[in-house]
Amino acid sequence: MTLQNITILGSTGSIGVSTLEVMRRHPDRYRAFALCAHSQVDKLFAQCREFQPRFAVLRDARLALKLKDLCRSAGLSTEVRYGVEALIELSSLPEVDAVMAAIVGSAGLEPTLAAARAGKKIMLANKEVLVMAGELFMHAVREHGATLLPVDSEHNAIFQALPADFSRGMEACGVRRILLTASGGPFREKALDELHHVTPEAACAHPNWVMGPKISVDSASMMNKGLEVIEAHWLFAAPPEQIQVVIHPQSVIHSAVEYSDGSVLAQMGNPDMRTSIAFALAYPERIVSGVDSLDLFKIARLDFYQPDFERFRCLRLAYDALHQGGTAPAILNAANEVAVAAFLDRQLPFLGISQLIESILAILPGGPEGSLGDVLAADAEARHEAHRMIKEQLFT
Ligand code: NAD
Ligand code: MG
Repeated sequence: MTLQNITILGSTGSIGVSTLEVMRRHPDRYRAFALCAHSQVDKLFAQCREFQPRFAVLRDARLALKLKDLCRSAGLSTEVRYGVEALIELSSLPEVDAVMAAIVGSAGLEPTLAAARAGKKIMLANKEVLVMAGELFMHAVREHGATLLPVDSEHNAIFQALPADFSRGMEACGVRRILLTASGGPFREKALDELHHVTPEAACAHPNWVMGPKISVDSASMMNKGLEVIEAHWLFAAPPEQIQVVIHPQSVIHSAVEYSDGSVLAQMGNPDMRTSIAFALAYPERIVSGVDSLDLFKIARLDFYQPDFERFRCLRLAYDALHQGGTAPAILNAANEVAVAAFLDRQLPFLGISQLIESILAILPGGPEGSLGDVLAADAEARHEAHRMIKEQLFT
């Protein structure tokens, strides 16, 4: 068995840590080549001590110097770098076999795109990459022969339920619909007027999954599902009207594919990201992930509901942005990132998230996706406007 060199973008986050947990079980298969994080020096140092990567990356020179000193005193030969240029380089060097894209938000776009352009195997958790620049990214994947494996549990489920040659198109493969399941988050049953006062702590307490703060808030607003509709559109060339969101509070069915003969193929499992991470790492083989067997007797029942677009305005806004196309999804994503950060910072009420995004989409028309420059310009403009609106306290 040849040892594969893995770069993890976002190694200190929820997905990054789960990836290292799976890799820890298979030292004969995977080697940490580069571990990249934002600012958690101590956590990254502990990971360096255990996994002894060739490279470690942090956000800036000051943090990198701190880690460098720690590594030197511990006698580690890990080389410490910093900044986005290092992320891009360590996602595309010839020695890299696969990249786990697990940075949260738009910061992951450039390194993940670099991995695609270098023809790498990409394990994609960082859904914002596809939301911001789906056309550009998928084009780079095809043109450079990269292998794209979805890690987001729903998309991983759909990938497993689709035929191997699904890139021929949904119709050619006899696929009628994609059934994208959603837990409904912690506020599925709360009265609408109570939602105004919910706290960041309540929004981050997801009933089934343990995740980073941004995706936890996205799950509570169901923007996460909206982003996932856009993600599914690009990954599987699926028209928006053929992607049906299904609320399924138990999160046991991770998503399903319906074929024209009436067959529905679903993938099930415990809500634990190590399943799809292990799938992506070993594809097309299967390896032990550490996830327990699914106990259907204990689960006993599975429920399904239609999504409520009034309660979850963000889901509607994401479908609208996808229909609009061009840079509209990048604008939606940027406005959402600013809104979620402001909500976590108690500068914006929960319902202000969708109001802010809606206002931004109304004033910024968006243009063609074109180049990376166009996407980044749309992202920057949307952020600027969103910050301005929050500062002017338009949503209190
Ligand atoms: P997290 O907040 O727990 O971790 C984010 C990671 O990204 C951290 O390691 C952080 O250091 C790093 N990071 C952030 N900004 C960075 C920057 N500018 N430069 C370098 N590193 C940076 O987030 P998470 O929950 O692990 O989610 C990561 C991605 O995976 C998100 O896009 C999320 O939507 C997606 N995802 C997560 C889950 C989950 O269960 N957590 C499930 C599906 C998809
Ligand atoms: Mg998901």
